[in-house]
Parts: sequence; structure tokens; C-alpha cells
Amino acid sequence: MSKEKILTVWNTDGINEGEILILRKPCADIVAPFDEARKKDIKKLIDAFLALDQAAGLAAPQIGISKRIIIFRNKGFKEEDWSKSESDYDVLVNPRITQTRGELVTMAEGCLSCPEIQVEVSRFPEIKIRAYDQSGRKISKRYTDYLARVVQHEVDHLEGKLIIDYDGAVYIPKQRQDFFARIFKQKEPVIDDAVAGKL
Ligand SMILES: [Zn+2]
Repeated sequence: MSKEKILTVWNTDGINEGEILILRKPCADIVAPFDEARKKDIKKLIDAFLALDQAAGLAAPQIGISKRIIIFRNKGFKEEDWSKSESDYDVLVNPRITQTRGELVTMAEGCLSCPEIQVEVSRFPEIKIRAYDQSGRKISKRYTDYLARVVQHEVDHLEGKLIIDYDGAVYIPKQRQDFFARIFKQKEPVIDDAVAGKL
């Protein structure tokens, strides 16, 4: 399986201006029925996701494809539920959140494109979406709790929005305190050994 490069806002050397441009670009819808080029894009995203060990979800712009495609584990993030078979993940093309329910829930989130940190993000605990599945069939789905969070995180990517755009507390690893203090100039980061990004 191909190890696709995941675009990031920064790496150990500094800010990735070129990659930020792609991550920040709003993605385009795909027209159904999908043509060969778009089928290739979908396949590339699936392969890239399956090659990752520590990911709950991935959005197309994270591998440089500015199309509205996301993929995520559909049973949450327990390793024992993860066999990498097709029944363990959902692919959504042109996803639209059509309904949100419940009081916002705040939780620290990581992101593969914002490595080493976590940011507290408030999300709806229940959403309904309309989308195409990977073969171009119209579907509507309801997600709750952690999965609702993952889907909202991935849909944000399609709009060019990242966890660092939210106002919540930022958790950074102690040994990288100086580096992140420069990045989060207006924020007071919380020094914490944050776990690696997962979304
Ligand atoms: Zn992410």
C-alpha cells in the first residue's frame, strides 16, 4: 500500500507555506457518475488512509487532492474494531451536514496536518449528512458522539478549516514549547505531552 505524504501546516523545521496553501483551499464537489480521474482520487485517498496506523480519518486535501472526499473509521477508534476491511470505514463524497442536534461537546482533538498538538474543539454530538458513497450512490447517514466529531473534523478540512482555527485551549509537547509559542502568538498554549494527531 502506498505511503502517501500527508501535508502539514508545520514540520520540525518550521512552517510549510506551500502545503498550507493546499490545506486552506476550499475543495470542489465531484460530479456523479464519477469519471476515471475521480475514481482514482477516491482510490488514492482510501489507500493513503489504510497505510496509516494512527488515523481515525483523512480528508482528500491532506494528500493534496482538492476534492470533497473524506474517509474515516466507522466504528470509532478502538484498535480491536479495526481490520482495514471495507466494512470498517466510510467514504463520503461531497458530504453535506444537513442537520445538527444536541449541545456542543468540547474535547481535545489532534490532526495529522497539525502534528504534535491537540486543540479543544466544540462539536455537535449528532449530525445527519447527505453524500455519495464511493461508488456514486446517494446516501444519507446519521452519526453520533465520537464519529460525529470525526465527520465534522474531516468536513472542516474540505472547507480549508483546521483545528488551529478554533478558540479552545492548545496542548503542546513541552520539548517544543519555544517552537509552538512562536506559532500561537496570540494564544497561551498549555504545556502538555499531547499524543500524536489522529484525524
Ligand atoms: Zn485533520
